[in-house]
Amino acid sequence: MENVIIIGTGCAGYTSAIYTARANLSPLMLTGTQPGGQLTTTTEVENFPGFPEGIMGPQLMMNMQQQAEKFGARIEFAKVESITKTEAGHFEVKTGEKTLEAKTVIVATGAAPRHLGIEGEMGLIGHGLTSCATCDGAFYRDVPVCVIGGGDSACEEADFLTRFASKVYLIHRRDELRASKIMAERALDNPKIEPVWNSTISQYLTDESGEMRAVMLQSTVDGSEKELEVKCVFVAIGHVPNSQFLGDLVDLDENGYILQNPGRTTTKTAGLFAAGDVADHFYRQAITAAGQGCAAALEAERFLAGH
Ligand SMILES: Cc1cc2nc3c(=O)[nH]c(=O)nc-3n(C[C@H](O)[C@H](O)[C@H](O)COP(=O)(O)OP(=O)(O)OC[C@H]3O[C@@H](n4cnc5c(N)ncnc54)[C@H](O)[C@@H]3O)c2cc1C
Repeated sequence: MENVIIIGTGCAGYTSAIYTARANLSPLMLTGTQPGGQLTTTTEVENFPGFPEGIMGPQLMMNMQQQAEKFGARIEFAKVESITKTEAGHFEVKTGEKTLEAKTVIVATGAAPRHLGIEGEMGLIGHGLTSCATCDGAFYRDVPVCVIGGGDSACEEADFLTRFASKVYLIHRRDELRASKIMAERALDNPKIEPVWNSTISQYLTDESGEMRAVMLQSTVDGSEKELEVKCVFVAIGHVPNSQFLGDLVDLDENGYILQNPGRTTTKTAGLFAAGDVADHFYRQAITAAGQGCAAALEAERFLAGH
């Protein structure tokens, strides 16, 4: 019987592990298919406190892993398929291969950014393709960039990017945005944002060093194509939270994010906590995920002390 199983090894999971390991709870971490989480897919991270020169995403995650292991966290490569709570009040965590038992569970499984599914897309992440304007906008000063999407996030990201980019193209497959009126108006009133209606991206075009130089736009009306020069594509077509395996142990919002109790990392099931992007569609940052990981660890410690 484990004291605590932490599902996911991103910023939230590792922070939970550091705290619960230092509290002598010997946490067991399950990595899922992306050990290190989303930051392993990016290059430089400039906004995680403590690294004034910036740090590469994979290196930051390796540091977190070492810090967790130093205090006794154990890590297994396994994807969780389902969890149930027994009548005795503990959890059965099923991976493909075995069933693990735990008194508490911290779910830190993140959310996967949606991509367009264009060939070579994954290899371009960090080389002119990203899903986070807050994270990567400042790298693209005085150059043209584009945002693809038509919802509130796309409008917000486009607006934010005008602080840096020379021009922001807002590419949308329809002829009007589906964002709320106020967000859409703010974007369309911004002189640095140029909407590109009825269009999608059919191809990414790179320079000789493999960095984004342009996109091929395809009309959703007649299929015609034309090139658009941009140094970075910000994909803002939503995220898919990794929460499907939890059954009715948690309530989800309409987009699949876990609902925590207000101001806490507790959920509707006692002993089951949620931290990071899987429960946060709003901030989606490494440091906020880490902060929630800390909070969930403290909740788990107190829960165990009280039982
Ligand atoms: C390209 C890119 C660049 C970014 N740049 C920055 C930046 O510069 N600064 C910043 O603050 N933020 C940045 N972010 C956002 C940041 O990466 C996330 O906010 C952060 O990683 C969220 O951490 P998390 O621990 O909640 O989840 P994740 O990092 O998503 O980790 C989730 C973990 O859960 C595991 N998992 C999922 N499902 C299962 C399962 N069924 N069983 C077991 N394990 C499972 C995964 O394998 C993974 O280990 C960036 C994101 C991307 C995509």
